[in-house]
Amino acid sequence: MTEIASHRGGAQVWPENSPTAFRETARLPVEQVEFDVHPSRDGRLVVHHDATLDRTTSGTGPLCDHDWADLARLTLKGTQAERMLLLEEVIEIFRPTPILLRLEIKPGVGMVRYPGLEAKIMACLADHGMLDRTVITAFPVETLAEVRRHGNPRGLIWLVARPILLLAGGLPTVIEVARRYDVPRLGLHEADLDKDAVATVRGAGLGIGGWAAHEDEAIRRMFALGVDVFTTDRPDRAVAIRAAG
Ligand code: FE
Repeated sequence: MTEIASHRGGAQVWPENSPTAFRETARLPVEQVEFDVHPSRDGRLVVHHDATLDRTTSGTGPLCDHDWADLARLTLKGTQAERMLLLEEVIEIFRPTPILLRLEIKPGVGMVRYPGLEAKIMACLADHGMLDRTVITAFPVETLAEVRRHGNPRGLIWLVARPILLLAGGLPTVIEVARRYDVPRLGLHEADLDKDAVATVRGAGLGIGGWAAHEDEAIRRMFALGVDVFTTDRPDRAVAIRAAG
């Protein structure tokens, strides 16, 4: 069965990565909840998409320039004065559910990786007994290699950015890199997925998923292609479309 991942907690239905989004996602028959993690200046693990605060919060500037005590005072745009959550808080929302965490490890401003973030996240997941309930994703493949050095999460997915796919000149080179880094599954933009792409990746012994399938047409195509999993800002539509068969 093709699994559904509620992207940033269902970003077109509720304010992305917000407490409301996660609480509502927790009630849906989806298999995964996707969210992103950055470190605060004092080393707390903060669930937020952008490296900067401006788009989604009442704050400004890079998230990692602020201590958690300051970040906790900011409100998330589009919410009733909700604040950002820590990784450990998202864990507690989903612990009573069967939903897996799909945790994206983000780079900072300018796509520069945060030193030591992978180790910190893996330690937090281990402390909370969530390693076997968490799939780690990242666009920089080096992030996944670093994750591997700190433990064994339930899964690892390399998110292949479209410019990387172009730069590589196609899937065979991407597959070679995935093998070199021992990454068992790729995630491609929904528009880069067709029967041939799915067959090529599966033929190489790797799993294949999609991301950014937000429109009904794209959601239907993910089910028709039979990818392992896909992320969507419309988990409500994905659930309805899957239920309709
Ligand atoms: Fe993400």
